Amino acid sequence: MKKVIYLDNAATTKVRPEVVEAMLPFYTEYYGNPSAVYEFSTPCKEALAKARETVANALGAKDNEIYFTNGGSESDNWALIATAEAYASKGKHIITTKIEHHAILHTCEYLEKRGYEITYLPVDEYGSVSIDELKKAIRPDTILISVMFANNEIGTIQPIREIGEIAHENGIIFHTDAVQAFCHEPINVDEYHIDMLSASGHKFHGPKGVGFLYIRKGLKLRSFIHGGAQERKRRAGTENVPGIVGLGKAVEIGMAELENNKKKETELRDYLIGRVMDEIPYTRLNGHRTNRLSNNANFAFQFIEGESLLIMLDMDGICGSSGSACTSGSLDPSHVLLAIGLPHEIAHGSLRLTLSEETTKEEIDHTVDCLKKIVEKLRAMSPLYEDFIKKNRK
Ligand SMILES: *Cc1c(COP(=O)(O)O)cnc(C)c1O
Repeated sequence: MKKVIYLDNAATTKVRPEVVEAMLPFYTEYYGNPSAVYEFSTPCKEALAKARETVANALGAKDNEIYFTNGGSESDNWALIATAEAYASKGKHIITTKIEHHAILHTCEYLEKRGYEITYLPVDEYGSVSIDELKKAIRPDTILISVMFANNEIGTIQPIREIGEIAHENGIIFHTDAVQAFCHEPINVDEYHIDMLSASGHKFHGPKGVGFLYIRKGLKLRSFIHGGAQERKRRAGTENVPGIVGLGKAVEIGMAELENNKKKETELRDYLIGRVMDEIPYTRLNGHRTNRLSNNANFAFQFIEGESLLIMLDMDGICGSSGSACTSGSLDPSHVLLAIGLPHEIAHGSLRLTLSEETTKEEIDHTVDCLKKIVEKLRAMSPLYEDFIKKNRK
């Protein structure tokens, strides 16, 4: 395989070697079903308990508030649908934002078809939710507020603590999709007044297909997958033991290295943003300048198609994204970029580059050098750019 520069860590991350190593024995040696009574299954039970404790500690939660799922989408679906059903007698109004991941937005559409009313909060040009708008949206029948911790496309981090406070002052349950933030930003569920939180292993160097939902003790949520008594009868199905062990290991390492990695990524991200903004004209930085995920850079290049940009970067062995992995293949511009007010034609020319702690300055330099050439080439072929230059000459 040719050497790639992987700058799509918001889509998924490389599994750490230590994580793979921790998982392997649970495929080979310790393959028992954790629900079985014999001693052969004891290592599996213990490993599950240990992973649960690691995750709980990372959030300042209790072990019995962590429910393992098969990832972020399932956790989001569960949080919204089960809350909606459990609290329907109190009200059928839910507040979320226009820039959520589709795992939230499409679940909201599903609920709308079933008689729930959803308010989609707008965001400002940087992608931040306004606290005033949130306060105005609250009604006596509001049962749930769901606001993502950090956006997967533009990286903007939301004022989660204030949102949580407002939710709790009004007796409303607060859920956050923290899939991009968990193990990247420090999170404490009590400090932030979070009642439910979704996370996914493969976004922080764990395996794919395993995640969790934190559910604060006392919430009356029904089970989502019906069947056996696993996960305290709330999420049936034989546990993905190797996956959960891997997730636990990724949390252990990710939390220990969080501050270090954040610092390293922030420096490199700012270097990338600086070079691109200085060296490529007619470029816009999407998302908040500073209040953003340490690994996220998102640009809009005027007069260019994001898809062409991605294909040409790919020819140079560089993996980027034009928005989110979920919208790839569709011609609609990203709902997030439209929500921050970008006109269609500019939203189309967007590029998301997301770093990891393994990304090097050499990789960034090489990427920017390629990007400069590609943008120049594409603009040279663009009739829009030609018109623009002609007009400006007059
Ligand atoms: C990736 C992602 C999801 C979906 O997680 P999966 O584990 O892939 O199902 C949900 N929300 C956000 C913000 C994400 O970035």
